[in-house]
Amino acid sequence: MIRTAIARTGVLKPARTRKCAVKGCATRFQPRSITHKVCGPACAEVHAAAERKRLDAKQTRERKQALKTRADYLKEAQVAFNAFIRARDAALPCICCGRTSEKQYLTGSNWDCGHYRSTGSAPHLRFNEDNAHRQLTVCNRHGAGRAVDYRIGLIQRIGLARVEALEADQAPRKWTPEQLIEIRDTYRAKLRELKEKA
Ligand SMILES: [Zn+2]
Ligand SMILES: [Zn+2]
Repeated sequence: MIRTAIARTGVLKPARTRKCAVKGCATRFQPRSITHKVCGPACAEVHAAAERKRLDAKQTRERKQALKTRADYLKEAQVAFNAFIRARDAALPCICCGRTSEKQYLTGSNWDCGHYRSTGSAPHLRFNEDNAHRQLTVCNRHGAGRAVDYRIGLIQRIGLARVEALEADQAPRKWTPEQLIEIRDTYRAKLRELKEKA
């Protein structure tokens, strides 16, 4: 077997020429190896520049992909967090008006996770449990969050000190995709735990 292999590789192939890899260059050359792709130094430079451009484009594409993925993870984490908040407060009335709804246990569709400081104006508090409470959809979306009533309800739930801490919190938070995945999975687990207890 070994002898056959030697015999095989020992066979000298007839010298083949290769067309230069640079677009527009028609020169044929004798390649030294399979990675030898251009006819000479001038074409080597052109080829290297084209390669850099290709790699840059690839990197840009990957960066865009990473951004998209991060946005997706942010959304998934928010969905998981919101679902947990709604379940956590399932036995409680609306944070801002104290109303309950007979439909609340059917679909949950008329209940939102309402953020006291909105995810739009205070995105750093989007996963803060003090900042989020179950709220009737009509109050959350159609009553612009009913901030004044929300605050009264919030003080009753968590106390003035924690409300004021929320209001003073301006520390920006940046979550990496990995952290967002962790937040998502944590709240999915917490929701499962609640449902098991129920
Ligand atoms: Zn060439
Ligand atoms: Zn309400």
